[in-house]
Amino acid sequence: MVKIQIIYTGGTIGMVHDEIGQLVPFDFDNIKKNVPELNRLDYHLDVISFNPLIDSSNMSPKDWKKIAELITTSYSDYDGFVILHGSDTMAYTASALAYMFENLSKPIVLTGSQLPIGEIRTDAKENLITALEIAASKNNDGTATVPEVCIYFDYHLFRGCRSTKMHADKFDAFKTPNYPILAEAGVDIKFNTDYIRTISKEALIAHTKFEGIIASLKLFPGISEKYMEAILSTPKIDAILIEGFGVGNTNTEQWFIELLKKATSNGLLIYDITQCGGGTVQLGRYETSKHLSEIGVISGMDITFEAAITKLMFLFGNYSDKVIIKQKLAENLRGEISN
Ligand code: ASP
Repeated sequence: MVKIQIIYTGGTIGMVHDEIGQLVPFDFDNIKKNVPELNRLDYHLDVISFNPLIDSSNMSPKDWKKIAELITTSYSDYDGFVILHGSDTMAYTASALAYMFENLSKPIVLTGSQLPIGEIRTDAKENLITALEIAASKNNDGTATVPEVCIYFDYHLFRGCRSTKMHADKFDAFKTPNYPILAEAGVDIKFNTDYIRTISKEALIAHTKFEGIIASLKLFPGISEKYMEAILSTPKIDAILIEGFGVGNTNTEQWFIELLKKATSNGLLIYDITQCGGGTVQLGRYETSKHLSEIGVISGMDITFEAAITKLMFLFGNYSDKVIIKQKLAENLRGEISN
């Protein structure tokens, strides 16, 4: 029998109405009793719950580490893992887990819902049932169909470290703007095998350290010199993630360039991504970004904001040499960038 471990962290998914109509946490320990449809899947399911359960807005690297440790401890006992998680920061956790696990050979599927599992129109049951089916799915040779960290939401399976929450209240809340979906669930689940990572035969390695003081700055026309100066001279920050215009462009006024130059020469790492909903940074394509490579700004290419922030924390947690951190930022570690 296929064995799946469910890690229930919290979020909207886990709420039901009690006898007097109040929303109370759903008892995932009795999951098969509460969602009888699961009995037909004939899987062995074990549930581990966070205590206390958390809204994902309160997730932190310490919780990512906790999830990773739960998975590592029981990795050889299960065929796959399903993480029930609030949707708000699900793309950050998915990105963090992707970096944490090197040589993954089993599925780690995050899911949640926009409406609690106890609501009549809930999207939770479909999300949960199909996430379990995906975590259990095997190729003919017995290997996992999706040996990567992914998000299943509203009939679509997404690569975790390419995902972003695009909508606050629609059921189809997630997208991977720069990467095809990994699967679509209709009558059958159609896997997009050409885009799914290949299985690793090496032993799993879990890197659970996330460190570094990271700042982020979204550029806008009219940004003031005083504000830029204040951010770039904040004591102790290790790196700043800049969301530039279009293909990574910035203002080219003298004061702006001078501030960036001063910051990089003082050792601040500047990582440039696009603030557009899709596409890639191309430093040097326009005059308004040529100066950035000269100053030593690193291109984030087509990485999402979530994958960029977690990549910085992951690299600062695992390497102390800034030259190596810069090299690794340009490398495609887990399928988070296209190169
Ligand atoms: N605020 C909730 C959370 O992210 C929303 C959700 O579960 O979708 O935990």
